[in-house]
Amino acid sequence: MEIKTKHLEYVYQKNSPFEKRALYNINITIPENSYTAIIGHTGSGKSTLLQHFNGLLQPTSGEIQIGDLVIGSEKKKKGLKSIRKKVGIVFQFPEHQLFEETVEKDICFGPMNFGLSEEEAKIRAKKALKQVGLNEEFLQKSPFDLSGGQMRRIAIAGVLAMKPEVLVLDEPTAGLDPRGRTEIMDMFYSLYKQHGISIVLVTHSMEDASKYADHIIVMHKGTVYKYGTPREIFDSPEELIKLGLDVPESIRFQLKLEEKIGAQIGKQPSISIN
Ligand code: ADP
Repeated sequence: MEIKTKHLEYVYQKNSPFEKRALYNINITIPENSYTAIIGHTGSGKSTLLQHFNGLLQPTSGEIQIGDLVIGSEKKKKGLKSIRKKVGIVFQFPEHQLFEETVEKDICFGPMNFGLSEEEAKIRAKKALKQVGLNEEFLQKSPFDLSGGQMRRIAIAGVLAMKPEVLVLDEPTAGLDPRGRTEIMDMFYSLYKQHGISIVLVTHSMEDASKYADHIIVMHKGTVYKYGTPREIFDSPEELIKLGLDVPESIRFQLKLEEKIGAQIGKQPSISIN
């Protein structure tokens, strides 16, 4: 499912003394079946943009098209429910929203709320648990007896149980240790590669953006500064550094290395088997 914005603008608390224009002139396309990272300084508008992708926020002016649904400035209710099923959103510390007495009940909550029978919801819960790398033994446990990393996986399984086509993630590894971070990031990558779920990731980590994404959006002061592949974005690190972003030397080195290896492979004679 493609997501496309046209001249999207968003103003918080419009017509009040606290009015704040958080986004303006956003014209982007998130292609179907893609992994897009959104980077940018704190306050550049990343989270505000993300919340438009599943209709949580609606543009102040301009529009956003999510699949077949076009959302403009007039308050729209029709179609939003189906969009929230198709686009799952995971905020920072999603485990704070766990509340049921068992893991199974927690994961089933969303699907049952959307009208699925208990039986169907339970089938989805099992599948979602597997997708986040946990086995069925967890189903009858209390979410509150689990480790932080496991709780986060359960919360993500609750979103996956809705069978989203797109998963929108706002700093999903916040607060995890390096190993937990890598595990969760690898898990999202396999949801993309093996299960065909598009990913849109807001991250502070330039490493994660360059390692996993195939497109990167750089936000600056409420609008898109640059859009491109990791190579296009990190090719001119001085530009990003000027925006206050931290571009580790390792990324530049890695990209140069890949370029070199690519060039060498290109030079290899083609092998033919008689
Ligand atoms: P980022 O995710 O890049 O840190 P945000 O989208 O959270 O940026 O914020 C963009 C701008 O909108 C910031 O200037 C922020 O202070 C402002 N903002 C965010 N949420 C609100 C709100 N609820 N009310 C008023 N201003 C807000």
